[in-house]
Amino acid sequence: MGCHVSQVQRITVLGATGSIGLSTLDVIARHPDRYQVFALSGYSRIDELLALCVRHRPAFAVVPSADGAVRLREGLNAAGCATEVLEGEAGLCQVAGAPEVDAVMAAIVGAAGLRPTLAAVEAGKKVLLANKEALVMSGALFMEAVRRSGAVLLPIDSEHNAIFQCMPGDYSRGLGAVGVRRILLTASGGPFRQTPAAELMDVTPEQACAHPNWSMGRKISVDSASMMNKGLELIEACWLFDAAPQNVEVVVHPQSVIHSLVDYIDGSVLAQLGNPDMRTPIANALAWPERIDSGVAPLDLFSVARLDFQAPDEQRFPCLRLARQAAEAGNSAPAVLNAANEVAVEAFLERRIRFPEIAGMIERVLDQEPVVPVATLDAVFAADQRARELSREWLRRHGR
Ligand code: NAD
Ligand code: MG
Repeated sequence: MGCHVSQVQRITVLGATGSIGLSTLDVIARHPDRYQVFALSGYSRIDELLALCVRHRPAFAVVPSADGAVRLREGLNAAGCATEVLEGEAGLCQVAGAPEVDAVMAAIVGAAGLRPTLAAVEAGKKVLLANKEALVMSGALFMEAVRRSGAVLLPIDSEHNAIFQCMPGDYSRGLGAVGVRRILLTASGGPFRQTPAAELMDVTPEQACAHPNWSMGRKISVDSASMMNKGLELIEACWLFDAAPQNVEVVVHPQSVIHSLVDYIDGSVLAQLGNPDMRTPIANALAWPERIDSGVAPLDLFSVARLDFQAPDEQRFPCLRLARQAAEAGNSAPAVLNAANEVAVEAFLERRIRFPEIAGMIERVLDQEPVVPVATLDAVFAADQRARELSREWLRRHGR
């Protein structure tokens, strides 16, 4: 019997003021013996970031601009908090790759998270990946960097964390080699699962953001409503588990209790179940390969009572089809899909376009933009920029 001395892990939380960031800090605060916050980042919510710094006492906090830094430093001084304030993308990359850091929660939303997440990967950290857009944009480069650096990549997306838990430990040998036939990626169907196509013209951002099962940031909420979220997750699953797009099937499961499944060649199908609360995958990844309390209530199967499954409707939700096409085309296509989607979602949230136009605009941009190889990060960002320009052109042409 040995005495196990566990070392306190130092964690950087990128996107600390967001939905995933706050859930991460909730789990961390339950285990002060295991985790200590090294750095936090925020974007527009400086006052919230200040409160988090006072509570968690990180060595560093990162904000986007000099204005925010001045405001945050004033607040920190007044509160007697010694946190040092850094600025911009350089600050994010610094706290992601700092030698003192053990694990990085990558929870910035969208393409803005790519460079900081890659900085964590390149420094060989344990990387808890919520920022799926980063992997979608740069999949091949991202996974190559993981292999080169020896970073440990752990999925936070509930579906991918479920798949990870249902896979054998040596799944990196390839799905065929470990007897996996298919990945079954579950989708709640979002708030418009039952909304007739004709009514989708008039849905509002508020309706799109009112998810039946999950409380999330606004961008991913709109993605869930359009099912682009499942499309991005399909691409994410292909990279994480080295799967071909045709080996990933989307299954609509409105209760969001099964978080995804793995179908083996002997007919066994393994699933991971739990209440829809992101603290479960967060705790799973933080403590992996151990298990810790997440604060999530035990699953009550009697109150769940039933589990339903449906095929996705790609007529009403064309984003899923567009994402599958981008996954098959590979190269720059996923980055173009992602960038067009980011512009479209923002325009929808600002009430400049209608909900079905999100897919219309992305399809037009994908048609216009040739698929090219993306061997460098610069090439990825160039494709991202061209797609954003084409998207803005679409908006201008349509008078928005
Ligand atoms: P959110 O909008 O609640 O939070 C986003 C965070 O990113 C905030 O902390 C914000 O300060 C920061 N941020 C925004 N724009 C930035 C920029 N330009 N530069 C630097 N920082 C910026 O979003 P969320 O729901 O927490 O989602 C975060 C990521 O996790 C997304 O990629 C999302 O797809 C993924 N994810 C979220 C959930 C969920 O349940 N919320 C589930 C699975 C995956
Ligand atoms: Mg998900």
